[in-house]
Amino acid sequence: MKIDLISIFPEYFAPLKLSLIGKAEQDGLLSIQIHDLRDFTSDGHRTVDDTPYGGGAGMVMKAQPWGDATDPIIENNPQIIVIVPTPSGQVLTQEMAAELSKADHLLFLCGRYEGIDARVMTDLSTRVDLREISIGDYVLAGGEVAALVMIEAITRLIPGVLGNAASLIEESHSLIQDGQSLVEYPNFTKPPLWRGLPVPEVLTSGNHGEIAKWRAAQALARTHKIKQIKPMNGDQ
Ligand code: SAM
Repeated sequence: MKIDLISIFPEYFAPLKLSLIGKAEQDGLLSIQIHDLRDFTSDGHRTVDDTPYGGGAGMVMKAQPWGDATDPIIENNPQIIVIVPTPSGQVLTQEMAAELSKADHLLFLCGRYEGIDARVMTDLSTRVDLREISIGDYVLAGGEVAALVMIEAITRLIPGVLGNAASLIEESHSLIQDGQSLVEYPNFTKPPLWRGLPVPEVLTSGNHGEIAKWRAAQALARTHKIKQIKPMNGDQ
């Protein structure tokens, strides 16, 4: 998979050289290219933002540098999927990550300030598959961290990126029971007793049928627990 990222803070992506993603790039499974949006500005100050039409607080990212930065990447590349991290997008799910992991080429546009001039998305959506995606219902200062989250969720699903592909089968949001996605059961490793806390006996029994039953029950109980969390003010 090829991944391009555009940002005014290219240094934010240093973690992509580490761990699974770094290794996947070394192994040729991924090719990541980072572009500095300021290289596409048209004035001496390398300005990327301006005041919002209609007034209001904050600054908006100008369309021109985004247009000039994206054109060469999407040119002759109609299959590319352009992802715009934004709190007003569709919230990322494991299912979405799995679908995106099959793409050949992803381009992330990492906004700052009040976001990118909306005409950039309107223009791109006439030429490519454009997705506006949120990583959750809260607001970050910029799209870089959100892009890192999405890249990690997506790329670990590419065959060969994880050392053990079986890890993907029984994990949170991939386990399905009665049409409902479950979170994973709790995991334990050696020693059998730590700070007076023993490992559940069934896990050391060697009885795989009983272990599977216990894990399924735990996954269900945990899923019910997180889905019943009440709002903090407790009035609903
Ligand atoms: N004015 C925007 C709004 O109210 O929707 C918020 C802009 S935010 C301060 C700046 C940038 O951070 C956004 O353009 C986006 O790239 C990124 N961002 C913030 N929260 C995000 C989230 N939950 N998911 C994905 N990206 C986010």
